[in-house]
Amino acid sequence: MIAESLIQIIYIISAILFTLSIKWMSEVKTSRRGNFSAAIGMILAVIATILAVGTNHYELTIVAVVIGGIFGAAMAMKMPMTAIPQRTAISHAFGALAAALVGAAEFFYNTPSIDTFTMSILSIEVILGFLTFTGSIVAFLKLQELISGRPIIYPARKTISFLVFGGALLSAILLIINPGNQTLFLIMGALSLVFGVILVIAIGGADMPTVIAILNSFAGLSAAGLGFVLNNKLLIVAGAIDGSSGLILAILMCKAMNRSFTNVLFGGFGNIQKSKAGKNAVERNIKSMVAEEAAPLLSYAKSVIIIPGYGMAVAQAQHASKDLMDSLEEKGVKVNFAIHPVAGRMPGHMNVLLAEADVPYEKLKEMDEINSDFKHTDVVIVVGANDIVNPAATHNRASPIYGMPILKAYEAKMIIMIKRSPGGLGFSGIDNELFWHKNTTMVYGDAKEVINKLVQNIKEN
Ligand code: NDP
Repeated sequence: MIAESLIQIIYIISAILFTLSIKWMSEVKTSRRGNFSAAIGMILAVIATILAVGTNHYELTIVAVVIGGIFGAAMAMKMPMTAIPQRTAISHAFGALAAALVGAAEFFYNTPSIDTFTMSILSIEVILGFLTFTGSIVAFLKLQELISGRPIIYPARKTISFLVFGGALLSAILLIINPGNQTLFLIMGALSLVFGVILVIAIGGADMPTVIAILNSFAGLSAAGLGFVLNNKLLIVAGAIDGSSGLILAILMCKAMNRSFTNVLFGGFGNIQKSKAGKNAVERNIKSMVAEEAAPLLSYAKSVIIIPGYGMAVAQAQHASKDLMDSLEEKGVKVNFAIHPVAGRMPGHMNVLLAEADVPYEKLKEMDEINSDFKHTDVVIVVGANDIVNPAATHNRASPIYGMPILKAYEAKMIIMIKRSPGGLGFSGIDNELFWHKNTTMVYGDAKEVINKLVQNIKEN
């Protein structure tokens, strides 16, 4: 009795910690605390679960915790920041698989006595769990470039998807009517696994982080459903938090890219030919200079905005960017960072990197806050960003990124773009007219090396 109350109290503390963690993680300055409280909440949840299981097979739980802990710690320490989206995908895959398998075990264990309500929840939970598992595995393979990131489109794709998903739903309905049919349960599971693959295989790599947020939401809903089946309140709370936060994140990302949910899931975005060399840099009159020439332009500016993008993450140029800010501020230049909501490869990617480099939070300006400042800015320095500053999004209806809100770098008096080559394209695989804009000059090279040279020159002059 005491043990049961103790377990419930620990569950409540865990639920409070999970809720607080979401609140704290929504702001950069409290995000570490958020992460920490979620980890403590999870440890408490595991302890309470081990207590709940009691001596009945608790050694198996401990073996599972140790194996999971070793893999989790190794992934956290070894995986680079640039691989966070695929790391998240693989975590969802196994979280969802666990929920689906526990649901399946419940079904097979209790088949004769299962009631209609439990069967309804179990069916939805298992469908979501299995499709999230295979969908997340495909997302991982695409992001890790183990398979092509292009959408795989084939004849009658939508009809096939509809039939497979419809088949899974029909099996669920028949199971709710007749919960004893184990063959039907296996068919429902198999169709859900297939649907996860066909859903995600048809989506382009550029949309994968959004898809991962949607799958995150599915995994959370699946866990919440399992909480109802197992009568585990913590699982209901944690699953609901996971499900709703994943959904909100996916909505925010779709908004930032001007895409709808259905367009992301069924649009086959990214199924375009990468623009080949096309016109070359000379034909397009793309101007370039070296870092030594760019440094004085920055030193003599009154205001500079730094726009970081995926290339800053690849080059790990966040510390160099902070040094650039410091060296310019020493010369009396006003410096801010402009942060696009989908810069990089995951939400908050730039914030995380720049916070790591100790750039003060108040220097990180969100897109809506800073977009009106560009026209009054002397120099904009684009550090490995591309799609998020591509003016085609504002006027070219044929462009796959048309309608995506962008940072209005093109309005500045001068734009310096740091990237490695004239031909290097962004995630969407399209050309960027900002390269040959009349106010733009390129500085070619790895972002970290170029910025280090800029800093050195600014300090020497
Ligand atoms: P992009 O992918 O558009 O462009 C990155 C640029 O960085 C390229 O032009 C590349 O050019 C350059 N680059 C790469 N490595 C280096 C290096 N070492 N040094 C200097 N430059 C380098 O990045 P953005 O941040 O502008 O845009 C993000 C894209 O990702 C958007 O299309 C967005 O929709 C998409 N996306 C982002 C999500 C998110 O959550 N953040 C989610 C979903 C999609 P070069 O090869 O010549 O160096």
